[in-house]
Amino acid sequence: MDLYYTSTRGAGVKMTASEAILAGLAPDGGLFVPEQIPSLKASMDELKMMSYKETAYTVMREFLTDFTEEELRGCIDKAYDEKFDTEEIAPLVKVGDVHHLELFHGATIAFKDMALSILPHLLTTAARKNREDKEIVILAATSGDTGKAALAGFADVKGTRIIVFYPKNGVSKVQELQMTTQKGSNVDVVAVHGNFDDAQSGVKKMFEDRAFGKELEEKGYRFSSANSINIGRLIPQVAYYVYAYAKLLKQGEIKSGEQVNVIVPTGNFGNILAAYYAKKMGAPIDKLICASNDNKVLFDFFQTGIYDRNREFVLTTSPSMDILVSSNLERLIYMAAGEDPQRTAALMEELKEDGRYSITEEMKERLSDFAAGYADEGQTAASIKKAYDSAGYVMDTHTAVASHVCGAYRKESGDQKECIIASTASPYKFVQSVMTALGLQGEQEDELSLLPKLQEASGVEMPQAVKEILEAKILHRTECDTDKMDEAVRAILGI
Ligand SMILES: *Cc1c(COP(=O)(O)O)cnc(C)c1O
Repeated sequence: MDLYYTSTRGAGVKMTASEAILAGLAPDGGLFVPEQIPSLKASMDELKMMSYKETAYTVMREFLTDFTEEELRGCIDKAYDEKFDTEEIAPLVKVGDVHHLELFHGATIAFKDMALSILPHLLTTAARKNREDKEIVILAATSGDTGKAALAGFADVKGTRIIVFYPKNGVSKVQELQMTTQKGSNVDVVAVHGNFDDAQSGVKKMFEDRAFGKELEEKGYRFSSANSINIGRLIPQVAYYVYAYAKLLKQGEIKSGEQVNVIVPTGNFGNILAAYYAKKMGAPIDKLICASNDNKVLFDFFQTGIYDRNREFVLTTSPSMDILVSSNLERLIYMAAGEDPQRTAALMEELKEDGRYSITEEMKERLSDFAAGYADEGQTAASIKKAYDSAGYVMDTHTAVASHVCGAYRKESGDQKECIIASTASPYKFVQSVMTALGLQGEQEDELSLLPKLQEASGVEMPQAVKEILEAKILHRTECDTDKMDEAVRAILGI
């Protein structure tokens, strides 16, 4: 059966999966959602014998029904290969009495690799299927993680170019080196003289500039986005939750049909929404537990039914979760609103106008599968230290937020189901905060010199991604002012 995609904000939109991936955002500004969530066609007993790639195929074919088997398997094969440092792709590691689903074994050692290593292939396949012959130019502004994962994903993918803009003085040393040393004949990196917001609004302006778009079209290019609202990023993420459940079963940690809870450190609400989709497909997941840092908009929302972004933006040691507008939440709101696009559009309009909206009791009841918690900076650091002292396991700051929330949830609710914690980054990526939490950070030690010390403390070998940046040549030195970003794009594309 064919599955179509509709918009969260307007009735009447009906697109195939490949069309939705190519378009990114619905024409009415809404997000694409499947008309219904398909169910798993394989039993857990079958799934537990499957490799990661087979699991990914089994899950994704239900969503991407207009891709042929050959096309989809081709995308999966190109994505989940030796770019990952383990054949398991997403290993499940027992730490104390919880299970960490390690999603950071890809090229850039953060969970964004799980989706961004396959998105370029889904996008180029979608372009081919829809007879789009122009070269796809990905423009991205980044505060660090997404940019590198997108660069690594799109590097040398035929039919695509990628240009990443980052704030010159707004990313960590490791993050900057990761980007400026990126290889690939189709990649460019530009340091913007401004902050992340400047870079972001510069990119947005280019997307909205019709004349510029037309000019590009005439030269054979089409802009696209690798942003986390693309359905092509969400769907690949559903696979690892199904995989994790099947793994627990295989390892004898749970009985057939036994329910588990999933805890996800959350920013834009993409990762946890994927876990919810896995539940809807039939994976025996009970609670989806949303973990926030001090920017606890989502925690407050689940407590009160009021989403309110009017608050101070806090810089934390888990920067990838420093976010006040979680764009993927719109897909959950749509569901809670009884799949009513008018109601969803009205709430999103309120968010845009007033920075807040509230949902009805009835809508709140539909969110009962979710629980929420948060960790402040002290609790985050303590949670890193505790896992290290008790189990010798070193986790990153984002995962530590989830780990704290998991412990607090178990204690307060008395719910003792097995827990899967989505472990979203390698501790090497946030080495300074991690070493500080462990009490191993000497005075005035710089980030790079801490890397071998973390290796010593954790006993986990430095990932290739880290070794590389210590040796690699800097390949990108382009800089530009915030009002000259379009000129930089013209120069790069030679138009
Ligand atoms: C992006 C990111 C998150 C947040 O994921 P969302 O899907 O945006 O909720 C959490 N941890 C790390 C390390 C990330 O890079």
